[in-house]
Amino acid sequence: MAAPIRVDERDNVVVALEPVAHKVAARKIEAGEAVLRYGQVIGLAVRTIEEGEAVGEDMLDLPAPPPLESLDLESVAPQPLPPLEGIKFEGYLNADGSAGTRNLLGISTTVQCVAATVEIAARRIREEVLPRFPNVDDVVALTHPYGCGVAIDAPGAEIPVRTLRNLALNPNFGGEVMAVSLGCEKLQPSRLFPLIQGEPWVVRLQDEEYRCFGDMVAAIMRFAEKRLGRLDRRRRTQCPASKLSVGLQCGGSDAFSGVTANPAVGHAADLLVRAGATVYFSEVTEVRDAVHLLVPRCASAEVARALVREMAWYDAYLARGGADRSANPTPGNKRGGLANIVEKALGSVAKSGTAPIMGVAGPGERAAAPGLNFVATPASDFICGTLQLAAGMNVHVFTTGEGTPYGLAMAPVIKVSSRSALKEKWPDLIDVDAGRIATGAAAVEEVGREIFEFVLDAASGRRRPWADQWGLHNRLALFNPAPVT
Ligand code: CA
Repeated sequence: MAAPIRVDERDNVVVALEPVAHKVAARKIEAGEAVLRYGQVIGLAVRTIEEGEAVGEDMLDLPAPPPLESLDLESVAPQPLPPLEGIKFEGYLNADGSAGTRNLLGISTTVQCVAATVEIAARRIREEVLPRFPNVDDVVALTHPYGCGVAIDAPGAEIPVRTLRNLALNPNFGGEVMAVSLGCEKLQPSRLFPLIQGEPWVVRLQDEEYRCFGDMVAAIMRFAEKRLGRLDRRRRTQCPASKLSVGLQCGGSDAFSGVTANPAVGHAADLLVRAGATVYFSEVTEVRDAVHLLVPRCASAEVARALVREMAWYDAYLARGGADRSANPTPGNKRGGLANIVEKALGSVAKSGTAPIMGVAGPGERAAAPGLNFVATPASDFICGTLQLAAGMNVHVFTTGEGTPYGLAMAPVIKVSSRSALKEKWPDLIDVDAGRIATGAAAVEEVGREIFEFVLDAASGRRRPWADQWGLHNRLALFNPAPVT
């Protein structure tokens, strides 16, 4: 039986591996005493906790989040990590200097009304047209429930609009944009893509020339075929690692996530940053309680202010809905041994590794700074994944404790389990088993290196993560904090 895991020598709770993942008191903890994990206060004991007793949510008072106004934002100066030279992958170079890890045709939609039509057209393109263009991987219908029946000029509405715009600009679409519009919707094509010029790029279903449903589908297929011809001429070429944009996320976390999968991903993140890649971590409610640890890592006062601005925006957003960050943990998180959001956040930010934070992007914005970025998103798996794709992500790394068959059509998703039991239960869904760290069978650095190599292989099309082998492509989910009408 493996020894319980203590993360920091100050900790008075430890995580036991068997018989199930749970957190126990390492010594007697008096009522009112701080309970420490990761060397940080995760709560105050509401009663005396005996040595060896399992520590659950009901035994802890949730501490207040770190106050944003008292953080020192001005005197940050983290050291950069030493560079790692010569790391390359095989990608599709784009005209704008980015590179794709896939060669996909994206079909944008302005409004939900056209979604079913576009999905039928995409299915027919896959069956009837795509076989003639063997160098194109797939066709992705960018369908969503936005575009009309919404307060499109209200504060917050810019988030779903810029998300849809930036999704179409994802490097895996090779710079080819086409859109399907209904005609009468609020989100007009010119508002979605104000800068596109040149050849016709919108199929407007209400136009006079389309006299039946068959005409509409045929027009979408015609527009697609033209673009598939150009995409098909592309080939993978050697690209520097600086053209990788790797999004990190967790879902269904447990008490092990913060000591196995997330630190291993953090080590991979450091290697990627050192190799020149752009890497993002996200999930505001899982960063909020660790913000005092992240501010000193911001590369400048400007970045620190942007990080705090995103935290404050989310605090206000949750307060408007009558909630706070304690609404985040799920029944599964708690069953998996996470007592509250503080403990979850301290484990979640381990994914960010140790590199300086070079930039902050708001929800739906492109991440522009090379190196580690904070991309502000909700923690919801599908909204976070969608917003990271809009930020420019071309590889996704996803850690999980409870397990989820998550996948995305637009980018490879590498799934990392926090426990070996999950990899044993789901051998054909989990790509990397970080549970070996808990049993002592592998070091954090070893699993981190494995994830780093997997990212390069998946980016190059040499290795397909399980989600792609099964075609597990979850739908996009937009973040719309503005009113629906
Ligand atoms: Ca998540």
